[in-house]
Amino acid sequence: MATVSIDPNEDATSPDIRKAKDALLALNEELLEKITAIPSDTPIVMADGKTLSGDDVRRLWDKVKFVVTTKSFGPGYGGSFDYASGTSYIRADTVTGWDLFPSGGEFITLHELIHSCDHGEAVRQAMWTKYYNENKDKPDYAAKYRDTAEFSEVEEYCYFGARAIMRQLGIADFEGTFDHGYEYGDLDV
Ligand SMILES: [Zn+2]
Repeated sequence: MATVSIDPNEDATSPDIRKAKDALLALNEELLEKITAIPSDTPIVMADGKTLSGDDVRRLWDKVKFVVTTKSFGPGYGGSFDYASGTSYIRADTVTGWDLFPSGGEFITLHELIHSCDHGEAVRQAMWTKYYNENKDKPDYAAKYRDTAEFSEVEEYCYFGARAIMRQLGIADFEGTFDHGYEYGDLDV
């Protein structure tokens, strides 16, 4: 089971923080039950043809740590995933925003699970390396990364994988749209 905690720098009694934490705990419970039921050897196919088995998804879900925060990660970012520690620093308004929509909470939490897997991390590293090599001599290249096709590619990879897992779990497809195709919490109703 994933873990859910509150950023120690936050006021844990804040209603927005509480609401986000409770939403994540409820999603955690729902997803755990469904993930537990995936057959061990069922391959779930990612955007690049790599696969995750039911056992892989269980192992990954056990390791993901959600930390609810209100910290800003820059315009358009709903959070930040730290691969080394398996930690999803996720903004409270990202959680509550997505959770307003049918399948939205499941979609965003499983998106984070894809960031936590080797396949997602390989895409992130490949895209960052490509971008870095082509742009490292330009001013503010790091700050501009979010608006690039490379960044979008990583996010789309995670959304594709999340959708594939949801289908395996019998969760209805998320039907919302995004302003830029990838931003967290940036939804049109
Ligand atoms: Zn992401």
